[in-house]
Amino acid sequence: RRVVALLDRVSKQYGSGENATWALRSVCLEIEQGEFVALVGPSGCGKSSLLHLLAGIDRPSQGRVVVLGQSLGELEERKLTELRLGRIGIVFQFFNLLPTLTAEENVELPGLLRGMAPKEARQRARALLEEVGLSHRGRHRPEQMSGGEMQRVAVARALLLEPALVLADEPTGNLDSEASQTVIELFRDLGRRHGATLVLATHSQEVAAASSRIVRMRDGQILGEEPVGRKP
Ligand code: ADP
Ligand code: ADP
Repeated sequence: RRVVALLDRVSKQYGSGENATWALRSVCLEIEQGEFVALVGPSGCGKSSLLHLLAGIDRPSQGRVVVLGQSLGELEERKLTELRLGRIGIVFQFFNLLPTLTAEENVELPGLLRGMAPKEARQRARALLEEVGLSHRGRHRPEQMSGGEMQRVAVARALLLEPALVLADEPTGNLDSEASQTVIELFRDLGRRHGATLVLATHSQEVAAASSRIVRMRDGQILGEEPVGRKP
């Protein structure tokens, strides 16, 4: 039993004084290796804020966030960036692909930015594009692809550096139901194929049902949890 991420009485405040918003209030959460955790709850309940903390994009206002054995609150900026770029893969609602690059180049990019040999980056990118069923799209640019295809490219990109933790914010929020299904199936296989732990925020019942654990949030707090059919 290995804990990949831990939130210990974490609160997150945006703004200050009269404009202060408590996006998270004393949240405790433990995530084990191989889990597929779905954060669900109404808009504004703190899902993105929680993901941003796990990603090291934001730091907690109170409490402790430990990701892959590192306490993020105390980590210096350079180490935080290293952790974020090297060990954590992120998938966004609007894909965030670079429009002037091909699918293959988009997937390679995190490798090249990390000093991977171009040949290796290309090989890995091709293998991942094949895995997400897009070998034939390698030379296409985002504008030539459907939303579902762009999101599969984004998933491949998130996996390039073999992250231990994959985070996704509404990854199917912009997809039709058929494209969503394909992305859900990809996520389902992540743990088994890549040993990755997955945490995502979603409004979709189907995505939540594919997870191994549903964490319900409201007003910056965790209301409750329920295991889902699938075992991690
Ligand atoms: P969710 O992802 O569940 O929609 P968020 O984490 O985005 O929720 O937001 C939680 C609360 O924090 C909301 O009230 C939101 O308006 C506020 N919030 C989020 N990010 C910021 C920010 N950068 N500045 C100010 N308020 C923010
Ligand atoms: P979602 O509902 O999908 O979680 P949001 O629209 O709440 O996404 O947030 C998108 C981005 O805007 C996030 O980076 C969040 O931090 C930021 N944000 C959300 N609410 C506010 C706010 N009230 N003021 C400033 N930034 C915000």
